[in-house]
Formats: sequence, C-alpha cells, structure tokens
Amino acid sequence: MTDIISITLENEMDLVLAHKRSMKVAEKIGLTVATQTAFATAVAEVARTVIDHTNMGNLQLAISGSHPRFSLNAVIVFGPIAELKKDDEGFFYAQKLVPEFSFETRDGSSVIEMAMGIPRSLRMDALKIAALKAFFLTEEPLNAYEEIKNRKNFLSKVTSEQELEIKHEKFINEKKSEFISIASHEIKTPITILKAYTQMLVKNHDNFDPKINSIVDKLDQQTTKLTTLVQQLMDVSQMENGTMTYNREDMAFNAFMKDIVDVLTQAHATHPIVLNLGADTHVSIDKLRMEQVITNLLGNAAKYSPPGTSINVDTKIENNFAIVSVSDEGIGMSPETLGLIFEKFYRNKEVMTTHPGLGMGLYITSKIVVDHGGKIWAESTDGKGSIFHISIPRK
Ligand code: ADP
Repeated sequence: MTDIISITLENEMDLVLAHKRSMKVAEKIGLTVATQTAFATAVAEVARTVIDHTNMGNLQLAISGSHPRFSLNAVIVFGPIAELKKDDEGFFYAQKLVPEFSFETRDGSSVIEMAMGIPRSLRMDALKIAALKAFFLTEEPLNAYEEIKNRKNFLSKVTSEQELEIKHEKFINEKKSEFISIASHEIKTPITILKAYTQMLVKNHDNFDPKINSIVDKLDQQTTKLTTLVQQLMDVSQMENGTMTYNREDMAFNAFMKDIVDVLTQAHATHPIVLNLGADTHVSIDKLRMEQVITNLLGNAAKYSPPGTSINVDTKIENNFAIVSVSDEGIGMSPETLGLIFEKFYRNKEVMTTHPGLGMGLYITSKIVVDHGGKIWAESTDGKGSIFHISIPRK
C-alpha cells in the first residue's frame, strides 16, 4: 500500500479536509465524478462518526494492489472506543457507498478500511502512483486551516526527529563514558605496578651508576604523569556518570594549605613557590579532592611559566569564604582563551604543541570547587602571567 495523503481527524474542520482531499485524490486518479462523490462521501461519513467520539483519529488515503488490479483505499484509525462497532449507524451509509468495508481491531486501535477498485482502463502503475504522491506532497493547502495543520505536523515531525537525534547522541555519549571508564580502569592497574617497580628502583639509587639512576628518575617522572592522566580520565567519567563522591571532614584551613604547598614545592623544584597565609578558618572539605585542586592550579602555574619565575599562593578570608589565589609570571592568556578554560577538554591551540595535557584539569578542578559550594575564576594578561582564585565556604 502506498500512502498518498494523511489527515489527522481532530475536529469538524478536518471533516471538510477529509471530504475535499478524498474527492481530489479520486479525481486525480481519473475515477468518474459519481465514484469520486461516493468515495468522498463514505470517507466523510466515517470521519464524522469518529470525530463525534474522539479528537485523535487518523485518515490515510492510499493506493494498494499490483498490476493490473489496483484500488483506492481510505484507512481510518481511532480508539479504542468501546461503543463504536461496525454496525454503528454512523457507518451504515458508508458501507452502502463503497464496495469494500472492513472494521477490525489492530494493536488496541479500531481500523476501518474502505476500498474502491480502480478500473484497468485507467492503467494505474507504480509511476503514476509515485506522481500522485508527489502531487499531494507539493499541493497548496486547501485553506488557512490546512496550512496551519501542515505547519504543525511539520513542526512535530521535526521535534520528534530532533528528540530521536538527542536520544541517539545521549546513547553514544553514554557508550563513550562507559568506554573511558573501563579503559582507564584497565590502564590504571599496569601503571600502578610500573610505578611500584620504579619506586623500588628509585629507593635503590645507591646500587646503580649515575647514568642508570638518571634513566630511573625519568621513568619515575613519566609514570607519575601517566598516573595523573589516567586519574583525570577516571574523574571525568565519574563526573559524567554522577558517581563522584566526597568524604568531607573538618580541617584547619591554613594547616591544610601549608602541608599541600610544602609537598608541591618539592615536586616543582624549577619554580620558587611563595606561600602567604592570611587569617585562619575551618573548612569542611574532601582533603584528597581539594589537594587535587591545589595541585592542578600549581601544576598549571609551573607548566605555563618559565623555570625560575615565582609562583605565589595567597590565602585570605572574604565574607564567609576562604580564598586561595595562585599567581604566576607565565605566558598568560587572551580574553577569548580565558572564557573557555573551564570547558571540558578545552586546550588553547598555541599550547597544544608546546605543553602536554588533555584539557581536563580545570574542568575537574572547577567541578570539585563548585561541588564544595565554592567558585573558581581567573584573571590573566597575555604574556604577563595569570592568577587563579578559588573560594571555599567557611565551616
Ligand atoms: P591542560 O593544562 O591539560 O591543557 P587545563 O584544563 O588544566 O588543561 O587547562 C586548560 C587550558 O587553560 C590550557 O590548555 C591553557 O591554555 C590554559 N591555562 C591553564 N592554566 C594556565 C596558566 N596558569 N597560564 C596560562 N594558561 C593556562
């Protein structure tokens, strides 16, 4: 069966459309005026009865059959409406007007099918059917009502296509996150073992000659980098799945900052790090996650500034927040870059080839800060350095 035209049956106005469109299809096929009228009247009769009971019916005009026997069909689907049966008086005349009339229940809906044979003399074939379909696709609306209805149908078609696309995208995204999660877990195990062995070698420096020790140190640095990258991948997938959890504890803020900056000073021997502690307070934080935040900000400050330049870490209390500011004298950023740095996977083009990274650090950092009820922001001047601030609510 090839659908030629479809009309939703919602109100009296659709009755007019159903009648006129049935006439027009029958006329375009070449049926006699008497047959056109009989068919269109039968369709209108059934449509009227359906519209009397529901505003959710649908009429489809179609051509069925194969060479040389074709027929014009009207398929009306509605319901389920218990009181509407085949012998309803609303269907009585229609059954007299068309030679084939069937009433059945399919998938919980009532379906009325009417068919009118198309004489062989009209030489119906696939080409003619395609031309008929094309004609009604481009046919001007009969009236303003049909124009609005067509637009509404078009919009709801576009909406449902978009919904499908969104669903598909969501599915792909879920699969990607799942892949990242599985891959990062799988990669983490061998890296942890590698790290344990390199640590053993580092501890045995005295047993090796300096050349070997320098290789061992490089191995150790690179496995540390790999561990951080894999951890970032795992964090991003946890953030996407909404499974990131925090074990918050009460902490004296200045002591926390001093401890972590001491550790990072050892790790970034290339840059003098100056810690200026302001007034003290207590905060409720996940210690490991907040260490990750400071590590990332200090790591970026060291990564994006020349060796030998200072990095300052200042703390203060402002209103109900503890503020940490990390400033460097590095390459800085343009205002455009500054507006994008907290986006997932964002990396400035200029640093892509010169500085390693995956563009996940600030995305994870900002998520952790925001999940603690704080904020993160930055100021920067291209070529002159940057300053990153975070605020954490006081306990
Ligand atoms: P990554 O460092 O892996 O690229 P981040 O999310 O940590 O990822 O940083 C995103 C981008 O922000 C970097 O690519 C860089 O362009 C910019 N950026 C971050 N920190 C600094 C900084 N201290 N100085 C200059 N640019 C920075």
